[in-house]
Amino acid sequence: MNQENMKILLTGLKKLDVKFDIVEPCALIAFHDYVQAGNRDMNLTAITDEEEFVVKHLLDSASAIPYIGQGAKVLDIGTGAGFPAVPLAVLRSDISVTALDATEKKVEFVKSAIAALRLSNIEAVCGRAEEMTELFGKFDVVTARAVASLPVLLELAAPMLKVGGEFIAYKSGESELDSAKNAMSVLKMQHAATHALDIEGNSRALIVFKKTASTPAGYPRRYSAIKNSPL
Ligand code: SAH
Repeated sequence: MNQENMKILLTGLKKLDVKFDIVEPCALIAFHDYVQAGNRDMNLTAITDEEEFVVKHLLDSASAIPYIGQGAKVLDIGTGAGFPAVPLAVLRSDISVTALDATEKKVEFVKSAIAALRLSNIEAVCGRAEEMTELFGKFDVVTARAVASLPVLLELAAPMLKVGGEFIAYKSGESELDSAKNAMSVLKMQHAATHALDIEGNSRALIVFKKTASTPAGYPRRYSAIKNSPL
């Protein structure tokens, strides 16, 4: 990675209030190289420009760091090539991250990246969120970026959380909140905060929901129902 882009990474992390040593940015750069190498064999990301990768993948993924509690168990739904899961795990050795995706090839890629980077606080799991009953009720924090609309995401995320846990949706603004009112009320998920950020000229809204009570029986539904008749 060229020096200019390394500088953007380091100053960007500081602006996001992320604390780091020298090793974490190095690991993020290694992850960049690994994704770009993997991108030659499969479709992992449309972003091939180095600066854009730093801003839209690495810094963007890192933006939720200040909102994740010490030692949290974190689940990233629909992690794809590992965003935001891998940067979160790299930058926070105190948390443990589960990176979940329904596409086997992507999960295999994330598993190989975890091994290559020698990360010990993250695992990759293949499956559909709504079918992973063994994960229900296990997490303090759930994240999702570029996966689905808020009503759909709330139905996928709520069952995974402990009561009191938080779902952090990476969105571009709050415009979807209105359409999520019913899902929030049915699923006992309360809007806790929205953090509006400017990441090198790109707006990001981290919308945080708190699970106030157990997810009612019958949820999550099968994916066809979640998708075709969202709450
Ligand atoms: N979060 C990544 C990838 C977004 S693409 C990023 O921001 O770059 C969306 C991903 O979500 C795809 O890889 C898809 O396989 C996964 N996905 C969609 N619905 C899912 C579900 N119900 N359970 C698990 N993964 C899902």
